[in-house]
Amino acid sequence: MDKNALRNLPKVDDVMNREAFRKLALSTSFDLVLIEVQRGIQNERKRILSGEPPVADMVTVLYREVEKAVSRTMAYGLRPVINATGIIIHTNLGRSVLVEEAGRALERVNGRYSNLEFDLSTGKRGLRYTHVEEILMRLTGAEGALVVNNNAAAVMLMLSTVADGREVVVSRGELVEIGGSFRVPEVMKISGGTLVEVGTTNKTHLKDYAGGIGPGTGAILKVHTSNYRVMGFTKSVPVEDLIALGRERDIPVIEDLGSGTLLDLTPYGLSKEPTVLEQVAKGVDLISFSGDKLLGGPQAGIIVGKKKYIDQVKSNQLLRALRVDKMTIAALEATLRAYLDPEGAKKRVPTLRMITMSPDEIKLKAEAVCRGITLKERVAVVEDVSQIGGGTYPLDTLPTWVLQITPFKGAQGFADGLRNLEVPIIARIKEEKVHLDCRTIFEEELEAVIQGINSVMED
Ligand SMILES: *Cc1c(COP(=O)(O)O)cnc(C)c1O
Repeated sequence: MDKNALRNLPKVDDVMNREAFRKLALSTSFDLVLIEVQRGIQNERKRILSGEPPVADMVTVLYREVEKAVSRTMAYGLRPVINATGIIIHTNLGRSVLVEEAGRALERVNGRYSNLEFDLSTGKRGLRYTHVEEILMRLTGAEGALVVNNNAAAVMLMLSTVADGREVVVSRGELVEIGGSFRVPEVMKISGGTLVEVGTTNKTHLKDYAGGIGPGTGAILKVHTSNYRVMGFTKSVPVEDLIALGRERDIPVIEDLGSGTLLDLTPYGLSKEPTVLEQVAKGVDLISFSGDKLLGGPQAGIIVGKKKYIDQVKSNQLLRALRVDKMTIAALEATLRAYLDPEGAKKRVPTLRMITMSPDEIKLKAEAVCRGITLKERVAVVEDVSQIGGGTYPLDTLPTWVLQITPFKGAQGFADGLRNLEVPIIARIKEEKVHLDCRTIFEEELEAVIQGINSVMED
């Protein structure tokens, strides 16, 4: 062991007083820099004690290490990425991209106090839900509305309100599991209801529902089979018939619509999905849907329906635990306002914009990226398909154009390279080639995509 080397170890105070370290501490955090300096010197001491030769130019090496460690700590965990997967409602990538107005709405209420739960006309306590209730009523035709944390919470709350301690009749064909941890039977258990399964996986008739109803029945539940389809020899009961049955027996019919859409998207090549407006018009008593799936808003669960039942939901004690923050309300209000002009919404709400974007428009973006690539022989613009995602439209795809890259090394290595960029680009691999679907890449991101591809190719 080199005694001299130990004695020559830099002192923490001296290091912290050096210009470079002082600057780093000022621009980041004094405490963080101090901890890393102490750690670095400590490590060096251990190395020397174990007989290793001292590091030459210790302070320079230390600075590099400290800077790296501090910037790692200071870096945001949650940060933007470029979605080149073509999956529009990508749950892992944050689902919906919000309308521009949502950003402004958030800014308006976040740095200041707001009338979140304050009725400006009376000066008394108000309800946070009122800020979006009226617009939801207008857009869906419902008698009342409220918003909770997400659709899973909305379903739980509806069930807990109408079915606590009672039975809920559900078709065996609709015992859905949604990605992650949402399973109808489990949600039912948490809500205090008892599941009464009727029919079979592929066929459920009205008489099955009728047979499942007894004196303890609290509700009939219809669940949208969002992420799968039962095909072939099948039968499910139209919600109109369930409503007629419910009326006859004086039992509310509630529907988990899953994604829920306010607009008919069949003109854009997607299959027919019932809109929220249609389901309300049919007379479903309570309907829930997601805020961040096809609606294109913030994470939220929206409940609309008959006033009688909405009032019951509003006085459910569970609501307190599922309530939304002002940020959700601000962003949701901005999203819903875009729908006051449905044609405009198709351009302004990013989710809708990406769904309704024509293949020609996407091709232009792909070609623009292609032009910027240095190694042109490695890229091509080819046809492919995009998915809607978010567990919606499991069978539908949209024709698209992708930038197809044939990397020198493996496709996985190239995709990893893109993912490790400062602004990560998430691509998909198809037949040993890397595909970047330009449907989900925004105009403003094209330049970063070009630079990203070029830099990974040069590596
Ligand atoms: C997506 C979905 C849910 C869960 O909605 P979140 O908003 O993700 O909580 C529940 N039910 C159905 C049918 C769904 O499609």
